[in-house]
Amino acid sequence: MYSYRVNEIFYSIQGEGKFAGTPAVFVRFSGCNLSCPWCDTDHSHGEKMTKDELEDAVRKLLADRDGAIIVLTGGEPALQLHDDEPLFQGFARFLCIETNGTQPVPDWVDWVTVSPKNALDPVVPRPNELKFVFEPEHIPYYLSMQDAGCVKYIQPLARKDGTSNLPEALDFVLAHPRFKLSVQLHKMIGVR
Ligand code: SF4
Repeated sequence: MYSYRVNEIFYSIQGEGKFAGTPAVFVRFSGCNLSCPWCDTDHSHGEKMTKDELEDAVRKLLADRDGAIIVLTGGEPALQLHDDEPLFQGFARFLCIETNGTQPVPDWVDWVTVSPKNALDPVVPRPNELKFVFEPEHIPYYLSMQDAGCVKYIQPLARKDGTSNLPEALDFVLAHPRFKLSVQLHKMIGVR
C-alpha cells in the first residue's frame, strides 16, 4: 500500500473551469516537480496518510452532500497517484484532477484539467480541459494549442502583490475566440 503526502482536505466551491460553482471536497497534495514564481501552495507542509485515512477524511466531508465532486489538486497530485491503487472507487462521486500535465494520470480519474506551465507540452494524451495561466511571452505556445480538441481557458496571472494581468488576458481572449476567459470564482467570493 502506498502513502500520500497531503497538505489539506477541505470542502468549498470549485472556482475554475467547467465545474466552477460546484461544491467540492478538495484534496491538496503536497509537493510539485515545478517551481512557478507565483505558486501559492505551501509545499513544506504535508501529512502522511494511507489510502484508508485519505478516503475516510473525504468520506466524512462528503456525508449528506450528494452532488459534491472530489477535486485532486496540489502541488502536483499526479506525482502521488498510482494505476494500481485507485482512490475513491466505492464513492458515487465525480473525481477530477488539476495537474500541470507533466505526469501521466491514471485512467480511474473522471475529469482531467491540465494547466501547462513554462510552455511544456502535456504528457496527458486527452485532457478534458486546458487552462493556461496567462504569460504574454507564451502566446505562441497558446496559439499552437488552439486546435486541441477540448475547452481551452486563459486565466489571468494573479501576482503575489495582489495585482493581475487581467486586462492583457482579456484582450488576448477577445482577439482569439477559441479560448475562454477563466476567473478564479472562489477568490472573488472570498473562499478557499
Ligand atoms: S505547477 Fe502548480 S503547484 Fe507546481 S509550482 Fe507551479 S503553480 Fe505551484
